[in-house]
Amino acid sequence: MRRLGLLATVAFVAGPLLGAPGAAPTVTSKVPRPDDVLGFHPGADRKLADYETIVKYFKALDAASDRVTVREIGPTAEGRTMIAAFISSEANLKKLDRYREISRRLALARGLDDAQARALAAEGRAIVWIDSGLHATEVAPAQHAPELAWRVATEESDEMRRIRDEVILVQVPVMNPDGLDKVVSWYNRNLGTPYEVAPMVELYHRYVGHDNNRDWYMFNMPESRNVARLLYEEYFPQIVYNHHQSAPFPARIFVPPFDDPMNPNIPPRVMRGVATVGDAITSRLEAEGKVGAISRTGFDTWWNGGMRTAPYFHNMVGILTETALWRYATPHEYDPARLPKRFRNGVPTDVPTTFYPSPWRGGWWRLRDAVDYILTASLATLDVGARKRSDWLYGMYLMGRDAIAAGAKGSPYAYVIPSGDAQGDPGAAARLVDVLRTGAVEVQRATADFKAGERTFPRGSFVVLMAQPFRAYAKDLLETQRYPDRREGPNGPPLRPYDITGWTLPAQMGVEGVWIDKPFEAALEALKAPAVTPASVSGAGGVLVASSRTNDAFLLANRTWRAGGEVRRATAAFSAGGHEFPAGAFLLKGLDRGAAEKLAAERGLAIVAVDAEPAVATIALKPPRVGLYMAWVPNIDEGWTRWVLEQFEFPYRTLHDADLRKGALRDSLDVVVLPDATAKSILDGNAAGTVPSEFTGGIGLGGAAALEQFVRDGGTLVALDSAADLPIDLFGLGLRNVLKGVSNQEYYAPGGLLRVTYDPTQPLAWGMPKEGVVFVENGPAFEEEGPRSDEGEEQPASGPTGRPAPHVVARFADKDVLYSGWLLGESKIAKKASLVDAPFGKGRVVLFGFRPQFRGQPLATFKVLFNALLLPASS
Ligand SMILES: [Zn+2]
Repeated sequence: MRRLGLLATVAFVAGPLLGAPGAAPTVTSKVPRPDDVLGFHPGADRKLADYETIVKYFKALDAASDRVTVREIGPTAEGRTMIAAFISSEANLKKLDRYREISRRLALARGLDDAQARALAAEGRAIVWIDSGLHATEVAPAQHAPELAWRVATEESDEMRRIRDEVILVQVPVMNPDGLDKVVSWYNRNLGTPYEVAPMVELYHRYVGHDNNRDWYMFNMPESRNVARLLYEEYFPQIVYNHHQSAPFPARIFVPPFDDPMNPNIPPRVMRGVATVGDAITSRLEAEGKVGAISRTGFDTWWNGGMRTAPYFHNMVGILTETALWRYATPHEYDPARLPKRFRNGVPTDVPTTFYPSPWRGGWWRLRDAVDYILTASLATLDVGARKRSDWLYGMYLMGRDAIAAGAKGSPYAYVIPSGDAQGDPGAAARLVDVLRTGAVEVQRATADFKAGERTFPRGSFVVLMAQPFRAYAKDLLETQRYPDRREGPNGPPLRPYDITGWTLPAQMGVEGVWIDKPFEAALEALKAPAVTPASVSGAGGVLVASSRTNDAFLLANRTWRAGGEVRRATAAFSAGGHEFPAGAFLLKGLDRGAAEKLAAERGLAIVAVDAEPAVATIALKPPRVGLYMAWVPNIDEGWTRWVLEQFEFPYRTLHDADLRKGALRDSLDVVVLPDATAKSILDGNAAGTVPSEFTGGIGLGGAAALEQFVRDGGTLVALDSAADLPIDLFGLGLRNVLKGVSNQEYYAPGGLLRVTYDPTQPLAWGMPKEGVVFVENGPAFEEEGPRSDEGEEQPASGPTGRPAPHVVARFADKDVLYSGWLLGESKIAKKASLVDAPFGKGRVVLFGFRPQFRGQPLATFKVLFNALLLPASS
C-alpha cells in the first residue's frame, strides 16, 4: 500500500462523538478522516456524499493504511464499479489469503474431521461482512461507511485492537452505487425548495428499485452477482450484516431476533447466532443511551432471497437492522404528544415491553442520529464477532458437516434434472443450474445413463446431491413451500408475511425435475462450467425452425428481424427435419446461418434448417412496435418488464404520461404494455404538490381514452395484474374481476405459485403445457359479465351480446389450486380465468391475472408475455 505523503504527517484526536462505551479512546492516526475527503462531517444536516466521493475516501484510506485493502468487485447495471474494503490488523491482512482459505474450508466442511476443524477455527479469523444496505433512499448506512472504516482502521482502544486482531471486516460501502447517485442528485435538485423531501420519480436502481433486495437467489442483476462471488465463492463470512432503514414507527431501530414464521430449512444454530448478534447490538445501544430499539416484529425468516435471508441457508448468521429515517438528510422534529400509541402488531409504544424496553419519546431526529445508531450496531457486531471468533468459525463447520450427513441419509437424497427431451426449454434448465451454482450449490452431471428411484435418466442429466454443506439452500429452492396458516385469531384476517411465501424454482422456471429419496449409483462429475449444453443448427436449407416451447426462440426471432429477415409462426403442430414441433413454432428466413449457430451454441437452442416451408398453416408477423408505460410513480414491475424485454432483445419505447395523453398511439405502436399498478395510480399518478409539477398527474382520462382508441384502431393492450382493472372498468370489455372488493379474509394469495390450465389452441398459450404453474400475488381473476338490462342490471349470460366473446386462455385449476406458498379462499378463484384475450374494436386487450415476469424469475411464463407482444394485429 502506498503512503500518502502529506496526510501521513497529520495526526489527530477523535472528538467525544466517536467514543466507544467506557473510557473515551484516544485515536491517533496518519490517515485521512472522512471529513477531509467528504468536506463535511458524515451525517451533517442536508449533506449527502455521492458515490465518487465515498470511493475516493476508501481509496485514500487504502493508500494511507496497511490495515485497509480496497478491491474492485465488478460493474453495476449502469457501469459504475463496485468496491469492497478488507479491514483488519496489518498482520491479518498480510495473511488474508490464508484466512480466506480457512473460512472457505470450514464453510464447505469437506475433508476435515472435528479435530482438524477445531485447529483451523483456532487459527482462523472471523470474517464479518458489513454492507451499507442497498436501498438508496435509506441514506444513512452508506453515509456511515467511511466513518466505520476509519474507526476500525485507526482507533487505538483495547476493543478496537481486539476487533482488528480477531476479525476481518469485509465492507461493501455502497451496494447500489447507481442508486446512491440518483438519490443524491434528486435530493440536491430539490434542496431548499418545497420538494426537499419529495419521493423520487424513478426507480433507485436502473431496473429493479427496491427489488435489488429480492434478487438473492436468482442473481439477475450484476450487483447481486458481484456480491454473491464474495459471499459464496471467496470469503464465506460467518456473519453477514445488511443495513436498512426504517424501523416500525416510532421505534428508532429494529434489531433481531426476528419474528415468526421461521423457515424450517434454516439450521437452528443460525437462529441462535442471530439472537447472539442481536443481543450484542441492543445491549450496546442501551449502554450508550440510544433508546428505542425494537425486536421480534414485522421481519420474519420464512422467505429466502433477501441479502440477509439467503445467507441463513448457507449456514451464515444473517443480520438486518432497520434504523429510523425521516427523509434523506433533512432533520425532523417529532411532537411527543403525536406519536402513535401502538405499533402495527398492537404492542404499545409508550410503555416498556420485553422487545421494546426503552421507548423513544420523540424530539429531533437527524441523519447524524441514524449514523450514530448504525455505527453502534456495526461496532457491536464486530465486537461479538471478535469475542467469539473461533466459535463462529467452528459453528459454520458444524452446520456444514451436519448438512452433508443429513443429505447422505436421504429423504431426500438428490434432485435430478433430466437432460434431453424431458425439458421443453433446455435453456431454462441450464439457467436453473447456473442460478443454483451462483449460490454455491454443488451440481453434478451424469457421465452415463443411470437409474434412480423408478426412473432411468439419460447421460448429461444434472444431479443435485443433498449431501452438501448448503443443503438447506438447495432444498429450499427446489422444493415446494407450505406456509403456515397464520391469522389474527381463529379464522381471523391473515397475518401478513414479510415477503412472498412460495418460490419453488423448477416450477417457476418450467423445468422438469425429480426428487429421489434413496441413495443410488451413478457416474457423476462435478459441474465446473456454465450448464448450457451447446446446440447447433441441424439440417440444411434456408428456413430455420425453432420450438415455441423455448424462450430463446423469441430471441432468435428478434435477431432475424434485426437482420432484415422474415418471421412466421405455425398455427398448428407439424414435423420438420425429423423433429416434432408444437403450434406456434417459429419459421425464420433471412438470418445468417453463422448467427443462428452462434445463438444455438450460446443458449443451447436447437434449431432445425429445412429447404422448404413445412406443410403447415402459418401467419406472417411484423416486428412489433412495443410501448412500455413508465409512470412517474416508480414501478418495480415496469423495471423488471423492461429488463426481461432487453434480455430477449425486444425493441421497445418507453411511454410517459404525456405520451399517452397526446394520443394517436396507433400511428407508431402495435402493443402497449401496462405494468402491474392500480387503475387509480395509472390515472392519477403523483398528487399535485407532492413532487415537482412536471411529474404530477397520471395518464388521466384523456390518456385512458387514447388507450381505448389505440385498441379500437387495432392495437394490443397488455394489462399486467392489477392494471387489468383499468380496461375492465373504463372500456367495457364484458369482463369482471371477481376479486375486486373481496376482503383478505375471503381471499388471500400473498405471493406464491398457483396451478392453471392453458388452452393451447390460443396463440397466447402457444408453447405452454396444458397444465402449468404461475406466480400470483393477490392479482385479479376474471369472468365474463352477462349482458345488462336498460336499467344496468346484469342479466344471465345467454343470447347474443353484440360483442365478440373474450377468449379464456388460462384458468385457475378447479381444485388444489395452491402449488407452493400460501392461499386462502381457493374457491374464489377455482376455474376462474387468469389470462384473457379480449377482442375489442379492431384490436384486443390481453389481461393477465398472474405475474408472467415477476422479479425476472418465472421463466415458464415469459413466453406468455412474449406471445402477447407477437399476437397478430387481428384474429
Ligand atoms: Zn431497505
